[in-house]
Amino acid sequence: EAKRRGAGRVSLASAALIASADRQVHLEGQLREALAKDGLTLHFQPVVGVDGTVQTAEALVRWPHPDRGLLAPDAFLPVAEQGDMMRELDRWVLRTALREASTWPVPNGKPVAVAVNLSGLVPGDPDFVDAVSNAVAESGIAWDRVVLELVETALVDLPCKTMQQMDILVEKGVRFAVDDFGTGYSSLARLKDLPAQIIKVDRRFVSGVGNDPSDFAVARAVVDMARAMGRSCVAEGVETATQFHVLHGVGVDAYQGWLFSRPVPPREFRAVLALGPLHVPRAG
Ligand code: C2E
Ligand code: MG
Ligand code: MG
Ligand code: MG
Repeated sequence: EAKRRGAGRVSLASAALIASADRQVHLEGQLREALAKDGLTLHFQPVVGVDGTVQTAEALVRWPHPDRGLLAPDAFLPVAEQGDMMRELDRWVLRTALREASTWPVPNGKPVAVAVNLSGLVPGDPDFVDAVSNAVAESGIAWDRVVLELVETALVDLPCKTMQQMDILVEKGVRFAVDDFGTGYSSLARLKDLPAQIIKVDRRFVSGVGNDPSDFAVARAVVDMARAMGRSCVAEGVETATQFHVLHGVGVDAYQGWLFSRPVPPREFRAVLALGPLHVPRAG
């Protein structure tokens, strides 16, 4: 069909493809520039204990795009991935988040930890230990204030050398967290093989704990297993008081979600910290 219409013609479908490929290349170039020129920004979302004390803040990357407004990670991380920029992006986030954490007030005597998501710069990368160590040194924060979040797939079946890299950092006080636990392919039994001190139960199960018996069962099983193995358990995406009460009932250690705070810009986060513990809904 295309042939019959002649070689000089471009079908509508391929014109659309070319246009979208063009846009993609353009976006990729803009992202490369933003990354090189500090054009990205971080928001921080508190992770609180049962008493509302902020224990940790997760750094979440945003891109204030010149004509599209503030872009969420879903809108540009795939572009970073495509353009082979994920490693560099992780490096930037790591450095920037730790530096920011060095400016946080300490109203309760215990400095708040900072959690960074890693997907390009991961254990196994020859530069992993140095990159983390340099970021810690540059920021001047204590090692035990650093949490590195990785998805399950980055933590299963790691070669010995990779585990040794992680051990070097763990011995200094760094903690690793399995992000989005329950969405990967590994079974509950494999939790014991995951080299992480913290388990983050995915929002998918958290959202149903108050009304869906199978979500409740999954959440309870994960928490029981995590506790039995000496890991600490964080629930992500906690939006309602009901979810909080149910999760508290099964023994979740810490909570993150809109019920407590949305991710907020650095200045606002410092103000949140200065106010002391966040409000926790009363039982009943
Ligand atoms: P994540 O690490 O699981 O981060 C939690 C996501 O849930 C964030 O989305 C956060 O804004 C959102 N969230 C928090 N509380 C609630 C809630 O109560 N309800 C709902 N519906 N959502 C909530 P965000 O910021 O859009 O980030 C999406 C994902 O992008 C992150 O998921 C993480 O996998 C990735 N990401 C974000 N920042 C970075 C980064 O700096 N580096 C890397 N490598 N990945 C990042
Ligand atoms: Mg995360
Ligand atoms: Mg998560
Ligand atoms: Mg998640």
